[in-house]
Amino acid sequence: MADEVARTDIRRPACPGCGEPWLRPTQLPGRYRCVYCLRRYELVSQCPSCGTHQTISRMSTTEDMLCQQCHSSMLRPI
Ligand SMILES: [Zn+2]
Ligand SMILES: [Zn+2]
Repeated sequence: MADEVARTDIRRPACPGCGEPWLRPTQLPGRYRCVYCLRRYELVSQCPSCGTHQTISRMSTTEDMLCQQCHSSMLRPI
């Protein structure tokens, strides 16, 4: 039976540091931690690459965390 229920297509953002999709939200809002390389990141409202402002609440719900303009990561190492 090819009845795969667990098609968990949660798009986890890849860690900007190591590239592994192991970013987990911490207890602080907008803070994430990579459980692979143990680096910490902060979700910023302004794109580090092109300077576009994003809505953090929207990014948090979609778990997208990419700039809508240039598709670079909105995570900044802390
Ligand atoms: Zn990492
Ligand atoms: Zn950008």
